[in-house]
Amino acid sequence: MNLSDAIRSIPDYPKPGIVFRDITTLLGNARAFRRAIDELVQPWAGGKIDKVAGIEARGFILGGAVAHQLSAGFVPVRKKGKLPHETVSIAYSLEYGVDEMEMHKDAILPGERVLLVDDLIATGGTATAAATLIRSMGAVIEAACFIVDLPELGGAAKLTAMDVPVRTLIAFE
Ligand code: 5GP
Repeated sequence: MNLSDAIRSIPDYPKPGIVFRDITTLLGNARAFRRAIDELVQPWAGGKIDKVAGIEARGFILGGAVAHQLSAGFVPVRKKGKLPHETVSIAYSLEYGVDEMEMHKDAILPGERVLLVDDLIATGGTATAAATLIRSMGAVIEAACFIVDLPELGGAAKLTAMDVPVRTLIAFE
């Protein structure tokens, strides 16, 4: 089985000219889901990750499974205004305008080793902001992992330039 075959490509979504890579078909395929999680966690199987940080919303699904597999904790990186306790936040640029992401202030302790998880990296705006926020809490980002990389958009290179090792399983040009 080829993992990329488990991903559905939707032309012109969410707007004309964009091909959306839909991972819900991979999640719904038992063998593909297990294999994707097994491959994502493989370098950290020895157990040196304290917390897995998953980016809303698809990063929650993958991050929960990754955390379970690594016997690590899971912490959510959420859109502004969703978390009930005291938060730390960071603003980041979108294609049009800016947005803000938040984490609970006590979700990660200084010195903890964190694995950042999302489904896909494109421009890297989301993941670099999350990595910056996690570092501002005094944690160590061991790596960031994604099922899909869109290398032409340069996001993985931006994380690497921040000294965040990147693991991706599939690249779409
Ligand atoms: P970036 O900030 O790297 O430009 O965009 C990545 C974020 O947008 C991720 O949180 C990802 O879930 C979402 N995203 C952007 N394009 C796609 C896509 O084609 N498919 C999926 N599944 N997510 C996407």
